[in-house]
Amino acid sequence: MMLRIKRVPTVVSNYQKDENEEAQKGGCGRNCLRSCCLPGSKLPLYAYKKLDKVSCEGSPEQVEEEASIDFLESLVLGQWEERVQRGLFRYDVTACETKVIPGQYGFIAQLNEGRHLKKRPTEFRVDKVLQPFDESKFNFTKVGQEEVLFQFEASEDGEVQFLPNAPIYAENSPSVVAINVSPIEYGHVLLIPRILDCFPQRIDRESLLLAIHMAAEAGSPYFRLGYNSLGAFATINHLHFQAYYLAVPFPIEKAPTKKTTSLDGGVKISEIVNYPVRGLVFEGGNTVEHLSNAVSDACICLQDNNIPYNVLIADCGNRIFVLPQCYAEKQALGEVSAELLDTQVNPAVWEISGHMVLKRKKDYEEASEENAWKLLAEVSLSEERFQEVKALIFEAITSVDHGSEDATQEPEAKPDPETIEEVDASFNNSRPDMVAGTQECLVLQ
Ligand SMILES: [Zn+2]
Repeated sequence: MMLRIKRVPTVVSNYQKDENEEAQKGGCGRNCLRSCCLPGSKLPLYAYKKLDKVSCEGSPEQVEEEASIDFLESLVLGQWEERVQRGLFRYDVTACETKVIPGQYGFIAQLNEGRHLKKRPTEFRVDKVLQPFDESKFNFTKVGQEEVLFQFEASEDGEVQFLPNAPIYAENSPSVVAINVSPIEYGHVLLIPRILDCFPQRIDRESLLLAIHMAAEAGSPYFRLGYNSLGAFATINHLHFQAYYLAVPFPIEKAPTKKTTSLDGGVKISEIVNYPVRGLVFEGGNTVEHLSNAVSDACICLQDNNIPYNVLIADCGNRIFVLPQCYAEKQALGEVSAELLDTQVNPAVWEISGHMVLKRKKDYEEASEENAWKLLAEVSLSEERFQEVKALIFEAITSVDHGSEDATQEPEAKPDPETIEEVDASFNNSRPDMVAGTQECLVLQ
C-alpha cells in the first residue's frame, strides 16, 4: 500500500511551471545553474564568520559583529527587494492581510489567496520520508540565476567577507540563498546547501550546521529558518531550508517547556507543554556544533524511522524545535475531517509554529485561537506515540558522540545511485519496527 495525498504544490520558483515541459535539448536559455549555463557565471558571495558560540544578546564580542549582522540583513532584504522590482514574485506579499489572533498564544493569521492559484493539485507520496533525488523532477539547479541572491559559505580566514561578483565554482558546489517566488513574508528565502550536489530533502550534520550558522549570522530573533521533511509538507525533493523575518514572537516560542535531559556537550532538551503540537526543544550546548549535532542526529533518527517532521531554528540558532507530525498520513488515510480539509491549509513548519497561512477569506475572518488549536492538534502525534518517538530519539542521540570536532571535516559525498539504493533498502528494513508501534499515525499494511 502506498499513501498519497492530492494537494496544490507551492510554486517556489518561476521555473517550476515548466516542470512538465522538460524535454528541451542543448543550451536551455534559462540561465540556470546546470552545466548548460553555469560556466563563467558570477554571483555575490557572503562568507560568514564561523562562531563557536552564538548569542542573541549584545555581548562584547557581539558588538563587534554588529556591522556584519546588519550587513547580512540588508543584503537579504536589499537583494530581495531588487527581485520585487524585477517582477520575479508571483504576488505582492506585502498586500496580504495579516493579524494577530486574540488569545493567550498570539497565533498569527495571514490571508494569502495568491499562493495557490493557477496550479492543479498534484499527488504527493507521504509515506516515505527518504526518497532518492530525481533529476527529472523540478529541482533548484533548474532555477534561473536571477532568483539566486548570493552564495553563502564559511569564511576561510575567520572574517566576514562579501564579494559582489564572485565566480561560481561548480566543483565546490556552493550553498546558495534564493528567493521563494511564493513568499509568506517579506524577505522569504530558501537556503540550498551545496546546491550542485543535488541532495534529496533530508537533514545531515553539515547542512543543519550551515542553517544554524545562517541564523547566528543574521543575529536577529525575528529571522528564523524552517525545514519540512517529505511527508511533512515539503514540496520539492531537493535539500532546502526556508527563512524569513517576522517581527513578532511565534506562538511556539512562547509555549512553556519541561526539561527532559541534558547531554554531555551541554545541550538541554525539553518537551513543549501546553501547545497543540508535541515536540522537543534543543538549546544551549558548549559550542554551536554540540547543539547542531544533537539536533541533526535526532532528525536523522526520525528519517531512518520514517517519521515525518518539521524543524524550526529560532533565537539566532540558539533554540531549535523538532516536531514529528502525522497530518499528511492521516489525510491520506481519510482521518482528517472535511471541515479541516476544506481550509486546504498545509500544516508545515510555519503553520505549526503558529503563523497560519490561510487561503480563504472566510477562514481568515473566522480565525480564532480555538480554530488554530483544532487544526494543529490534528498535526501532532498522540501522547503515547510521541513518548515512543522521543525514546527512539534519545536512544539515537545518546549512542553517538556529540560535539566531536570532525563533524564537518568530511563532507558527505554526493550519493551515487548505489548509495541511494542502500538508503531505500534500509528504509524498507526499518518499516516493520515502525509499524509495531501504536496504530495511530501509522500506515496499515
Ligand atoms: Zn541552463
